[in-house]
Amino acid sequence: MPVKKDYYEILGVSKNASDDEIKAAYKKLVKEWHPDRHTGDKKKIAEQKFKDIQEAYEVLSDPQKRAMYDKFGYVGEGIPYNYEYTTSSGGGFGFEDIFKDFFNDDIFNIFFGNQRTQSSQRVSGKRVPKRGEDINIEVTLNEADVFTGKDVTVEYDRYEECAHCHGEGVEPGSKWVTCSKCHGTGVVREERRTPFGVFINQYTCDVCGGRGSVPGEVCHECRGAGRIRKRVSTVVNIPAGVENGSVIRVPRKGNAGINGGEYGDLYVHVNIRKTSEYKREGDDIIIDVPVDYVTAILGGSVTVNLPSGEFVEVEIPSGTQPNEKIIVKGKGFPNLRSGKRGNLVANIVVKIPKRVSHKEKELLKEIAKERGVRI
Ligand SMILES: [Zn+2]
Ligand SMILES: [Zn+2]
Repeated sequence: MPVKKDYYEILGVSKNASDDEIKAAYKKLVKEWHPDRHTGDKKKIAEQKFKDIQEAYEVLSDPQKRAMYDKFGYVGEGIPYNYEYTTSSGGGFGFEDIFKDFFNDDIFNIFFGNQRTQSSQRVSGKRVPKRGEDINIEVTLNEADVFTGKDVTVEYDRYEECAHCHGEGVEPGSKWVTCSKCHGTGVVREERRTPFGVFINQYTCDVCGGRGSVPGEVCHECRGAGRIRKRVSTVVNIPAGVENGSVIRVPRKGNAGINGGEYGDLYVHVNIRKTSEYKREGDDIIIDVPVDYVTAILGGSVTVNLPSGEFVEVEIPSGTQPNEKIIVKGKGFPNLRSGKRGNLVANIVVKIPKRVSHKEKELLKEIAKERGVRI
């Protein structure tokens, strides 16, 4: 089975490109990739590209085929198109091309000089529902929001089911008509005469996908795609306790599905704007707390400002050592699930003054004498 191709990507146009844009892209690319303009290894690449471009253009320039392609993701059941191009050395299809295309499919489907048909792959004609794509967006929170949680209104673009046709892609009231390519049989038969014999290639109709009928009129609103791109806004509940890089899934807020497929999900990536110094370990918040050497010796208390905006009085016992950790329960981050807060871990940084007053110096000399410290 040939790989499904993204025709929009091949032509380098957006899914909403106008007919003129498609035509312009086609003209430009065809010039660029014409096999006559390339030599050596590059020629092979150009030939393939040239074919792809032709194939993409044939589908996207034909409103019916384009609608089918947008709707089903392919035109027909992955049938390789065979395009002819004229080269300076002759024209039409080379054998190589025929072999390449045929061998890719199935070697047993090739017959030389023998009027036999290639087995065709019929599709049921059922439309395969395809789930809509997920969408990823980012939101940025302030530090304080982590403690309370926040309902954030986000705006983004997504595909929604076309309200006019209810996602069917068919203009309401329009009848299904017999497919003009396969005349209702769902199968296309092609004969190709070569010196090796007659190649007969029979395949599922690429216009109707094997159903034999096509919508008489595609939906005017969505051009048959069944969905329409829209700017939407939704409120995302960011729970308290989220971490930088947390991802919140909002079910069914992604893109609409195709052929009745489900909506995809919205994934909200959370960034936290950090404006103060702290570390987070689980639900604990770790903050360096400067303490005067006198307080460390005598004991006392210091005020710690949390990123939540709270002020916490931390008791410093006498004889507190540098880098000692003092734990204040229940002042950490809220747990994402339980909401119960972790702890504040105050990492004590004892501040020793670089300069002291004359009086302090005298007093310290007294202390030194008292402690028997040599100075
Ligand atoms: Zn529609
Ligand atoms: Zn058909």
